[in-house]
Amino acid sequence: MIVQMNHNASPADVAMVRKKAEEMSMSLVDFSDEITLRLVLPGKHDPYLAREFAELRGVNDVVATAHGHCLTHRAANPAGTIIDVRGNIFGGDLPVVIAGPCAVESYDQMMQTAVALSELGISILRGGAFKPRTSPYDFQGLGEEALRILERVRAETGMAFITEATGVGCFDAVESAADIVQIGARNMQNVELLKRAGRSHRPILLKRHFSATIDEFLHAAEYVMAEGNRNVILCERGIRSFVDHARFTLDVALIPALQARTHLPILVDPSHAAGDRRLVIPLARAALAADADGLIVEAHPCPNESACDARQALNFDDLEVLMREIEYPPFMTTAALAAEVPA
Ligand code: PEP
Ligand code: MN
Repeated sequence: MIVQMNHNASPADVAMVRKKAEEMSMSLVDFSDEITLRLVLPGKHDPYLAREFAELRGVNDVVATAHGHCLTHRAANPAGTIIDVRGNIFGGDLPVVIAGPCAVESYDQMMQTAVALSELGISILRGGAFKPRTSPYDFQGLGEEALRILERVRAETGMAFITEATGVGCFDAVESAADIVQIGARNMQNVELLKRAGRSHRPILLKRHFSATIDEFLHAAEYVMAEGNRNVILCERGIRSFVDHARFTLDVALIPALQARTHLPILVDPSHAAGDRRLVIPLARAALAADADGLIVEAHPCPNESACDARQALNFDDLEVLMREIEYPPFMTTAALAAEVPA
């Protein structure tokens, strides 16, 4: 439940709420901002307990968190959570674009990608080091070697990077290298991994499993937040359906549905939803039209030679078309500056 204090609640009133939570052996998470004092009591909603808190002096309202997720609940932070990754603001007024190949294959591939992205105003690179492939005989990623490549590219270009932790075993290595740790769709309900992510100091990009309901998705995010990590970015990446014209079906309706239910930023991955590069740009536009907070897109210097997900990778010209079509603000600024330079 979420306890909202009155504007004129005194420190003693707040102390009373804290004391009551302590008496009940409930942990209390402070979500207050400059305007409102909000104290979240994680756990299952109990109407009797809610009434007891509602009767305390200085309490304005107790919000029932009927679905069982309170830390992720919109009412915990109605203004929306903002996550700053090296100056990229997730959950702010403008969308953030992340791009790069499915998997890190070589230093040259990542360096070429980073240079191309910089010219498009994109400053977060993606690239899998540990890959959760469907077949054990497919390319599994370069592992730690890929992390070293990503670190080197960051040192040389200033580009932040996101990469996936496929299990608890590689989490430490990924966490110590990456700016954002990704938890992939297949791991959305790997509770040990979610708990480990919750103890991380890195922001977590949590992808929705392709058959997860909104409740299951929010509960997965709640697992991360319940361990103390407030920096969770949600990502819709397509769900399984009967269609055979796309790899998955992008659930655009999830974006407004999530916005009503949670304060966390919401990204969309049009690449895995599409599975076909010709569908990526329209899906990306649909996501932003539905007010997503940004995109994570697969792009590769030679898409057809990608070690994985070749069919959905954009080349850098296509990525530029996408940046133009969505009028990506950092790209528009970069393009305007370039146009000013005399030939
Ligand atoms: C990925 O982003 O590299 C990936 C494997 O995506 P997903 O977990 O959504 O399938
Ligand atoms: Mn991929």
